[in-house]
Amino acid sequence: MKSDVSGPRVLLRRLREVMAERLGAQERLNKIVQHIARNMVAEVCSVYVLRSDEILELFATEGLNPESVHVASLRVGQGLVGTIAASARSLNLPEAQRHPAFTYLPETGEEVFHSFLGVPILRVGRALGVLVVQNREHRVYRDDELEALETTAMVLAELIATGELEGIANKGTSLGLNRPLQFEGVSLSDGLGLGKVILHEPRVVVTNLFNEDADKEVARLKKAVVSLQVSIDDLFQKGDVAQDGEHREVLEAYRMFANDRGWIRRMEEAVRNGLAAEAAVEKVQSDNRARMLRQPNPYLRDRLNDFDDLANRLLRELVGKPHGPVDEEIMGDFVVLARSMGAAELLDYNNGELRGLVLEEAGPTSHVVIVARALGIPVVGQLPGFVANAEPGNDIVVDGDEGIVTLRPQPDVQLAYQEKQHFREGQREKYAKLRNKPSVTVDGTQIELLMNAGLLMDLPQLAESGASGIGLFRTELQFMISATLPRPGEQEELYRNVLDSVDGKPVTFRTLDVGGDKVLPYMQLAAEENPALGWRAIRLALDRPGLLRSQIRALLKAAAGRSLRLMLPLVTEVWEIEQVRNIIRREVELQTRFGHEMPRSLELGAMLEVPSLLWQLDELMQSADFVSVGSNDLFQFTMAADRGNANLARRFSPMSKPYLRLLRDIARKADEHNTSLTLCGEIAGRPLSAMAILGVGYRSISMSPAALGPVKAMLVSLDLPRLKGVLDQVLDGEDVNIDIPKLLSSFAESNKIPY
Ligand code: PEP
Ligand code: MG
Repeated sequence: MKSDVSGPRVLLRRLREVMAERLGAQERLNKIVQHIARNMVAEVCSVYVLRSDEILELFATEGLNPESVHVASLRVGQGLVGTIAASARSLNLPEAQRHPAFTYLPETGEEVFHSFLGVPILRVGRALGVLVVQNREHRVYRDDELEALETTAMVLAELIATGELEGIANKGTSLGLNRPLQFEGVSLSDGLGLGKVILHEPRVVVTNLFNEDADKEVARLKKAVVSLQVSIDDLFQKGDVAQDGEHREVLEAYRMFANDRGWIRRMEEAVRNGLAAEAAVEKVQSDNRARMLRQPNPYLRDRLNDFDDLANRLLRELVGKPHGPVDEEIMGDFVVLARSMGAAELLDYNNGELRGLVLEEAGPTSHVVIVARALGIPVVGQLPGFVANAEPGNDIVVDGDEGIVTLRPQPDVQLAYQEKQHFREGQREKYAKLRNKPSVTVDGTQIELLMNAGLLMDLPQLAESGASGIGLFRTELQFMISATLPRPGEQEELYRNVLDSVDGKPVTFRTLDVGGDKVLPYMQLAAEENPALGWRAIRLALDRPGLLRSQIRALLKAAAGRSLRLMLPLVTEVWEIEQVRNIIRREVELQTRFGHEMPRSLELGAMLEVPSLLWQLDELMQSADFVSVGSNDLFQFTMAADRGNANLARRFSPMSKPYLRLLRDIARKADEHNTSLTLCGEIAGRPLSAMAILGVGYRSISMSPAALGPVKAMLVSLDLPRLKGVLDQVLDGEDVNIDIPKLLSSFAESNKIPY
């Protein structure tokens, strides 16, 4: 038996007519399977559609028992149809019943059919269903027949995606396209965000599936491919992008793919089969996706993103839209989904309704994450391949506390999250009431609560959070979100703006903490084997004093007539502080000579982040005007545990004997020398660990603004001498198995301290 040679084109023409007819969903589907069966000279053509409960239901058939429609079903992975859906791979079998996965469905009456050709109905690489043809005789379907059936499946994918089939499934179950999905990634910024999906790089939606004239369409496709190739060559010409190693690698991959003859040939074939050029690009990309997702080789799987990007670029060439992010109509609360994103791009979305961010690739120290944290936006990251599952406008919940993203949540799940959010809002109101209350423990100890900041947009939070000042202003953020090195005038303007808007409250500016993992795109530094231990922060600043001097100058000028507090990151030996003090002294002299007004007072502090300082505590306390413990780095270096390594995140606790003893030693030394001491870093921002820090002697802590309320609620209920008694006993004891977080939480519970 032979199928019609003019097959695919004629079939697609028929299907186009069916798609245009005014028909009910079931009728349309029935006609589609009839046409496919006739065109492919098959005795059976059936469509199975994936439901949200992971069941593939027979939606229409020509040739099998009509009574089995909406009755026969298989689980994903079960039977031939289930295997095709699970693997997103076609099966071409002369004798279906010999295949080990074959499952007999008696209600369909399929036992008389031997040969079987099944293809997945793919959309962006996801199987939404399975399309099958069967014949009585034993035959192997030819490659062109397989290709034709895959092309036809594309039409069905669009039909499913339009939602037309929704509602005709058995017992009204919703379809797989809309099924809820939950993914566990990595928490990058705390909080809970609910909203509608916005794709940062929206896929071009292909609405025109068929072509009128294959030759013309192939010419259109070829023209678009040439423009694509030229646009990629153009990117190479742009020096700034092409110089950088990583960018260059990506571009090389793009160029290779854009010239991949196999890719172009497969798209041409799909056009010759009757698809419009856009639909052909999408079909071939869906096949690619399904194929590459099966790759065990992570390098090849990673390249999938490049290929996706390229296909999207080609679609944009075809529909005449510019490259890069497209303005979306944003209405109401929304969550942005991106593979990766620059920090400045995130700011473009920050219109007050941005509720969350999901990033496939970003890690905790990426710039965009730092900025999102500063904005109080929950972020979940490290979810490769996630974006492909989402459609613009889908409901989504980003649980930044747990690192979980729920796409299209079921109503009860959504409700539970909404309740959690209301609860949080209630808490926030409670915290707002605490805002103007004194920050004093039950026994009358005054605690200074400061906030961390780094951008101008953080500043309104100073008043909102009730912080008594800024304990850590990370000046590197301005440098990190900027495309070029901020000019001295720009730096000065930012610092002046900061000081102008804090209403006389103290601000501690930290000098540039770059290098290592905090990369400035415009500053070419050699790759390092151990960036955390590398040429960074104050080390870099002292070796390249020009940069430090211009920053100090900007700070001195901005603080004219006011108090200036400067702090140095990653000090390892005390002489580094002295060197900077000399640079400042010289700069003050110079500026005074030029007639610039200088700050009324100037204090120079050091961050205690490197354990070597623990054996220079006397010298440190004498040399620095104040000391701030950078607990993130001090913890990572003390425990030899990379702060960005997810596998180590829960292994060691800062609320452990060695670390708390060490923090206590620092606090005692500061008291002895009467040196002002602060602690900044994540542990200051969680009520339980903040309690531990107060317990070992700290009276000033700096944290993200969102953490201030919960920490204050904790401390106003805290009897500090009682806690100190409990903690000292543990820290001075010899029990090496003591679980301090557990001990502290039971202390909090029995003393009714919220934590
Ligand atoms: C720290 O290391 O604790 C700190 C506050 O600095 P950063 O997190 O910016 O390294
Ligand atoms: Mg640090």
